Amino acid sequence: MRLFESIIDANHRAVAGDASAGLRPADFADALPVIALTCVDPRLNALFPSALGLPGEQFIWLRNAGNIITGPLSSTMRSLALACAVKGGEEIAIIGHTDCQVAKTTMVVLLDKLKELGVDRSRLPDNLSDFFGTFGSERQNVIKAVEFARSSPLIGAKIPVHGLMIEVATGKLDWVVNGYETLTAPAQAKVAMPEFAALGALGADKGFDLGEMKFPEMKIGDAAVKPLVMPTPPVGADEPPVVEAPKAQPPTLPPLRKKSPPPPPIQPRPRFPGR
Ligand SMILES: [Zn+2]
Repeated sequence: MRLFESIIDANHRAVAGDASAGLRPADFADALPVIALTCVDPRLNALFPSALGLPGEQFIWLRNAGNIITGPLSSTMRSLALACAVKGGEEIAIIGHTDCQVAKTTMVVLLDKLKELGVDRSRLPDNLSDFFGTFGSERQNVIKAVEFARSSPLIGAKIPVHGLMIEVATGKLDWVVNGYETLTAPAQAKVAMPEFAALGALGADKGFDLGEMKFPEMKIGDAAVKPLVMPTPPVGADEPPVVEAPKAQPPTLPPLRKKSPPPPPIQPRPRFPGR
């Protein structure tokens, strides 16, 4: 058995009460350390890395609210890539958990809570679901995250990307996506894509699969030069007017450098309105 197959086997035996169940990390030296992306839920604090049977030094832990990956080039993807390149991570596991509060929070509730916290809705992107990558199914969220990671140009084909779920009450792990199976397949996405496409609501209909791999790259380098690409960026910028914003900004930059005095007066207004 390969590393994560052995991990899940040992995990199931341990959860079933087998006191001798465990993993011998030395047997899997070539597959360690692993990188895990999990939710920030504090209930997970005590579950990792023991649920995997790994010592702490072989466990690189990335966390964000909802273990969400919003795109193949997202900030979390960059951290995963750096963890592979800089810390020698050999395998990636995106591990969702049961009873995730992100999944249970509707957009209406989220908006209310943000408002309570003083967040100005008008300063946020129109499509907050796409922006935050919120989800209703923990399992489908893992499938989507694995798909983004597997298709990301930041992750080499040699790195297995697994999807798992952990039961918060018991620490029991279960497969969602076996990353070893998608490693060698030419069409890496063939296992996950049907389910991913079924998500629908989170942008699958916008060509997230293959198209998004290129759009962000073009958006970064050629936003002002090739506005035709702009209507399709994955997150936030859905409105055509946004295309015009980058054009308007460059001309304002030179004046800002030459006339540095004007900007300062702008800050005091909102910061000290009632002084
Ligand atoms: Zn969670």
